[in-house]
Amino acid sequence: MESVNDIKNKENKQLIAKYKKYISSAKYDPNTGEELYCICRRPDNGELMVCCDGCDQWFHFKCKGLDLKLDKLVSNYYCIFCDELFEKGKTLWKKKCLLKNCYNPINIDLSTGKVSKYCCNEHGKLYLRHKFSNKFDNDSSIKLDEFSKILKDVSSFDSFLRLGDHLPMDYKNNPNFPEKIKIKIDNMNNELKKLNESLKMVELKKSYLNNTREKVKIYNDEIFKINNAMNEAKQVADLKQEEEQEEAAAVKKSKKNSKSKNKNLVKKVDICGYDYKLSQIENAVSLNNIQIHPIKSLSDFLSEEEVSNFATNYKDNSDNILYSLCIKERNKCFKHSYWYDIKIDSLNLQFQELNLQKANINKKIEYLISNGWDYLEDY
Ligand SMILES: [Zn+2]
Ligand SMILES: [Zn+2]
Ligand SMILES: [Zn+2]
Ligand SMILES: [Zn+2]
Repeated sequence: MESVNDIKNKENKQLIAKYKKYISSAKYDPNTGEELYCICRRPDNGELMVCCDGCDQWFHFKCKGLDLKLDKLVSNYYCIFCDELFEKGKTLWKKKCLLKNCYNPINIDLSTGKVSKYCCNEHGKLYLRHKFSNKFDNDSSIKLDEFSKILKDVSSFDSFLRLGDHLPMDYKNNPNFPEKIKIKIDNMNNELKKLNESLKMVELKKSYLNNTREKVKIYNDEIFKINNAMNEAKQVADLKQEEEQEEAAAVKKSKKNSKSKNKNLVKKVDICGYDYKLSQIENAVSLNNIQIHPIKSLSDFLSEEEVSNFATNYKDNSDNILYSLCIKERNKCFKHSYWYDIKIDSLNLQFQELNLQKANINKKIEYLISNGWDYLEDY
């Protein structure tokens, strides 16, 4: 006789074997290069899929034995490996609209905490109309005594129908809603608040980054002007020298002419522009003292003194840093290559991730509100 433990061990071994097979199978089609999904290792063919909240992998509804019409009712999905093998979580379902054959989730107003028993007002009316015409037949899910309780507060058939719009289920002010779940929801709302703050920070960092780009443009223009002025001054000096050497040898003179021709051209400036303050900004926990406003000239981001010393400091510069910006030629600065793209990519990724976390918590809150009423101790 096999004991319960034996059976469990056997099942576990089978699951581990299944997991090993799944995890070691090819992630891409060797012929087409297409990404492969699910335990069946097929590409995305448009079939309904669900993403596991534990491993972020996609699975076909069909392959997981899920009914296609339950699509909108999945709140949080955990694949069999994440659920049974790694115990990361259990699949959560949203409550279904009470109307038969409707597989939409019930409507929850997150701002008021009001929970309907139906996906929409129309279905609430349909449901009650149906129940009324069936005169409480056997499959009625509203018990007679429950129903008479509702009817007591209703004076007309019309208001009876309207009752179905939303049975009063404001969880926030309802003493029957389990306190434990209220606290859970409060905690999640606090998490949401923190996530929103983080999102705001990412936005600010993005603005700072884009502002830095504007700074670089202004630097480029300023440096171009300085180079031009330096070039002109040099030309004037050269001309003076030429005049002084007017009576010098003819060979020497022609050489000089060709030289001054070259000096007429000042190369367009394209500095690296990496801002050494960026690493500070990146690690900042609070960006309260960072002012981000449109930038049109040097004085919008440099002090008066810095602006007036800009040209001198540029000419004297030896370490290629001018007021925290790297002024090395862009295509010669390997230390900071692609700094903007790298940083903006990372911020965009953070943005995406935070929004994903937000969506996940919102799903859980919705689940808790809709299922909190029949709270089970072991949840
Ligand atoms: Zn599949
Ligand atoms: Zn998983
Ligand atoms: Zn419905
Ligand atoms: Zn640089």
